Order: sequence, then C-alpha cells, then structure tokens
Amino acid sequence: MQKGKVSVNTENIFPIIKKFLYTDHEIFLRELISNAVDATKKLNLLASSGDVKGDLGELKISVKVDKKKKTITISDRGIGMTAVEIDKYINQIAFSGAEEFVEKYKDKQEDANIIGHFGLGFYSSFMVADKVEIHTLSYQEGAEPALWECQGTTDFKIKKGKRKKRGTDIILHINEESEEFVDDLRVKGLLDKYCKFLPVEIEFDGNAVNNTSPAWKKSPSDLTDQDYLDFYKELYPYAEDPLFWIHLNVDYPFNLTGILYFPKIKKNIDPNRNKIQLYSNQVFVTDNVEDIVPEYLMLLHGVIDSPDIPLNVSRSSLQADSNVKKITGHISKKVSDKLAELFKKDRADFESKWNDIDVFVKYGMISDEKFFERAEKFCLVQNTEKKHFLLKDYSEAIKGEQTDKDNNLIVLYANDADKQHGYIEKANNKGYDVLMFNEIIDQHFIQKLEQQLESTQFKRVDADTVDKLIDKDEKLESGLTEEEQETLKKDIEGVVDNQELYEVENVNLAENDAFMNIHRPEWQRRIMEMQQFGGMAMFGDMKEKMKLSVNTNHPLAKKVLSSGDDEQKKLVLKQAFDLARLAQNMLDGKELTDFINTNYDRLMS
Ligand code: ADP
Repeated sequence: MQKGKVSVNTENIFPIIKKFLYTDHEIFLRELISNAVDATKKLNLLASSGDVKGDLGELKISVKVDKKKKTITISDRGIGMTAVEIDKYINQIAFSGAEEFVEKYKDKQEDANIIGHFGLGFYSSFMVADKVEIHTLSYQEGAEPALWECQGTTDFKIKKGKRKKRGTDIILHINEESEEFVDDLRVKGLLDKYCKFLPVEIEFDGNAVNNTSPAWKKSPSDLTDQDYLDFYKELYPYAEDPLFWIHLNVDYPFNLTGILYFPKIKKNIDPNRNKIQLYSNQVFVTDNVEDIVPEYLMLLHGVIDSPDIPLNVSRSSLQADSNVKKITGHISKKVSDKLAELFKKDRADFESKWNDIDVFVKYGMISDEKFFERAEKFCLVQNTEKKHFLLKDYSEAIKGEQTDKDNNLIVLYANDADKQHGYIEKANNKGYDVLMFNEIIDQHFIQKLEQQLESTQFKRVDADTVDKLIDKDEKLESGLTEEEQETLKKDIEGVVDNQELYEVENVNLAENDAFMNIHRPEWQRRIMEMQQFGGMAMFGDMKEKMKLSVNTNHPLAKKVLSSGDDEQKKLVLKQAFDLARLAQNMLDGKELTDFINTNYDRLMS
C-alpha cells in the first residue's frame, strides 16, 4: 500500500473548493460523468486502432444511488487506471489544477463552470462527499486493480483493489450537508439537465437517460424536416413548432456545431430569452449564453456546441475573446444568409412569416452593423394595405410623390391603423403611402433607418397637416384678411381650456379639409415616447405641446367671424375642437359625456 500527501502546498484546498463552488454543487455529477465518457471514448479509440483487442463488452455508464449507505456510484467500462496513473492523473495533475484554480480565484466569486477547465473536475466530488473511492482496472494487459481513497484532506491511500472488470467505479460517500443528492429524483433531474445528449449511454434505474446522437451532431443531409422538429420537441417539449432552423457546422478556425431555431417571436420581446443551450462536446454547460451570443440572437432557440468557447475566464473578458467574437460573427452571418435564402426561395411564404420574425430582424439591424447590411436583402416594411416591400424598393416606389422641397424622402407611418384612420385617409388621398410600425422596437428601428438611409425622414401621419408632412412649397392663400385670421385665432384660444397643451396655429388648406386638426409634432412625440421608456433623462420633465391647426379656408371660419351671437360662436368652436380631439381619440371622461349631451341638445333644438 502506498500512502502519501498530494502534491499541493495549499493545505486548505478542500474548504476552498467547497466555499467557492457553493452555489453550484450539483455540477459534480456532470464532471464525474464527463470523465467516464472520456474514458469510454478513449477505449473506443484504442480499440479502433487495434490497441485493445477482444470483446469490449457493453460500454454503458451507470449511476446508482444507495440510500442506506448514502453513496452515489458512477461506473464506466472505459480504459481504467493503473496505480501509477492514479498517482499521476489524480494525485498530481488534478491537484496542480486545483492549486492553480485556488491561486487564481481565491479573491473572486466566479462561475462554477470554470471547474472542469482547470483539470479540477474530479475534485468537485469533494463538494458533496466527505470520502471518495476510486475502484479501477486498467485495460492494459496484466494490469492490477487499484483502489484509491481520500477523505477530503490532502492525505490519500492507494492500495491493491478487487475490481475484476476493466473500467472505473467512483464511489462518493455523500456528506451531511449534501444529503439532498442521495435521492433518485434529484439525481435523475441532474442527469436530464447535464447529460441528456452525452455520446455514451448512461443508465440510471435500469433506463437509458440520454440520446447519444443528438440531431446537431448529424449531417444535415441525413436529417428530414421532421427530424429537426422532433429534436425541437426534445429540447422544448411544450413549445409551439418553430418557423425554420439553421444547422451550424464549422470546424475552422474554431469548432462549432449546433442547430438554431426561429421560434414565433412573441410581440414586444419574449422575456424568457434563455432558450439557447450551450454544450461543450455534448455536455451541457449553461443556458445563460449572454455574452457569447449577441442579444438579438438570444431570441432564437436551440443548441450551440463548442469546445472552443473558453469557460475558464470571467464573463467580461469573454466578450473580448477573439474566438467568441468570431463565433458570434459566424452565427450572425449564417442567420442572415438563411433569411436571405428563404426570401429568395419563396417570397410569399417569407412575407407570411414576417410578422413572426420582424422583431428579431429589426433588433439585429439595430445592434449589428454587419447584420444591417445583410438584412437589406430581406428586411421588409409593410404598408397600411398590408403590402410588403424591401426597403430599397419602397424608397423607389414612393420617391415620386414623397420627396419634399429639400429633396428629402419622407416616409409616412402609422402605429394604429384604426385610431389614425382619418390621418391615413388624408395621406392616401394625397397620393402618399403609409407604413405600419406598431411595435415597441419600431421607435428605435426608425431612428436607425434615419441614420443609415440617406436623406430620409420618417413622420407619423398625425405629425402635421398633410400639406406640411411633406413640404413641397405649394402654399395655399388664405381667404381671410390678416386681421380676420388674428381674430379667429383669439376666438379659438378662448375655447381651448388647456392652453399649455395646445398651440393654436392658422393654416391655409382646401375648403373641404377639416376645420380643426390636432397634430403631435414628430420630434416632440418621439422624445416623449423615449421618456416613457426611461431612455432619456436629459430633457427633464418636458411637457407635450400639441398643435391645433385651424383651416382658415374652411367655410366655418367665415361663418364664425361673421356671427353676432357670441354664445353661438363659442358653441361652434368648442364643438369643432371636440371633433378634432375625437379624431385623435383624445376625448374621454366628462368631456366626452358633455360632448354627447351637447349634441343631443342640438339635435333637439
Ligand atoms: P480532467 O478530466 O479535466 O482531465 P479530472 O480531475 O476530472 O480532470 O481528471 C483527471 C484525470 O484523471 C483525467 O484526465 C483522467 O486521466 C483520469 N480519470 C478521471 N476519471 C477517470 C475515469 N473514470 N476513468 C479513467 N481515467 C479517469
């Protein structure tokens, strides 16, 4: 029997391991099973090169919970270890990993995912066990079985073991604080979380718990659409079918496989974004892929598997990591290529899905320059008649009618086709087209488009009178004298009860245009909206001021001016003002009731 001290100076390594990884104790199982998988894969490799001969037997890994003895045993039929190897790989190397880990992280609270990447995997078992045994028999001819035992101190024992079959059993004597793990359901839950797609069969309670060849590891040419849908169900049993998917498969300059699915994105951004699962060689690592994929890609679902994503660094340096950047760039390119391909292949189908993916595309265009450029091939806008256009086609289509005197292209939009019906109709009558932008992200998207597209401005249809929305310098004269115009304005100001909210302005429109109209100036409205979403503090508590445009050419203007009955005049002006507010959906409460009552009175008089 060999006795000794593991070669580490840091006497208190075990308390440190326990303390640091406190939050994520459960990963011990993933680490030990990963080792068992590696040992099994190595055996297969040796067998295929002829270095191991004869029948390999069933290469399953099994996990057992013994409630009475309070143990968890992980058994594999892999390559096993000799006593010399245990000394080398467990006592020395693994411990030097542990030492490095402690050195680096003694002052920091770090992600427990780093553990496997310091060669510390095996020692994570001491987070939950006060004693660990390794019973192992190497595949090598004439090898002796070995038994290693350690009680969670730096002292260990290696002696001759009794194991007859090639492979390794790791027996964990679970400590008191970790008794929750001596439970079938708990262990099954962990196996489902971390081991669902491991490449070697894992048995628990007599059942296989994993799918050893998940779809992302297969070649796309071997998969049907149904296979992709079935795999999606395997990942998210309760989710609605995805719209389409992308199979990722790169081996240079980094290694990456995976399948990304486009779900039907719920309007206004699904708060549950942790849907992409990150694997490293089929071992589940995390479903928090923030910093590894850009935010807009987090709206996608699916699996990314890459041994090249460094997990042994902090999240902030992850963003600076060149591999991570390349991976992100690659995924973003693949996604845009796929969208471009779908658009080209079947435009009608793409248009029918547009409403389910537009938030994603817009989000991507706002946050990623390269994606913006590529999206020109498939980013659509939709007008109030539900017709879709590519951005550049749209500019072409409206150029003739919607260019103002300064040669700016003015894009008109609405965010509520019903509420803004009157304004849309006026614009349409004038020969203008109106787009629909009715999602929260659209405010930002519009700003992005204005930055990117040359000489293009966006205005909501109710931002101004239709003539001024697109100023072409075609001014109508007023049929009133300067003096009459002044009087009219004063009279109207007299009935507008909230002068802080409305600025009265005379405009000269056609006779058959409305007498009064309320407008919400574009810039001011945008700032108000930004404030609402907490985006901008610098404008302080800006109050909105709306424009009440009065058409001096409307017949009512003359009628009011010539009326001798002051009461009657007030009534007409008040009524016209209420109608303007009604057209903007701004009349409610007592004002609406009063308006209705006044109308009944008039009907009866
Ligand atoms: P890592 O897996 O990162 O190398 P570990 O501390 O988990 O670090 O394991 C150290 C080494 O011990 C492994 O590299 C392997 O050589 C050996 N080992 C661990 N578990 C097994 C096993 N079940 N069968 C064979 N060898 C093993």
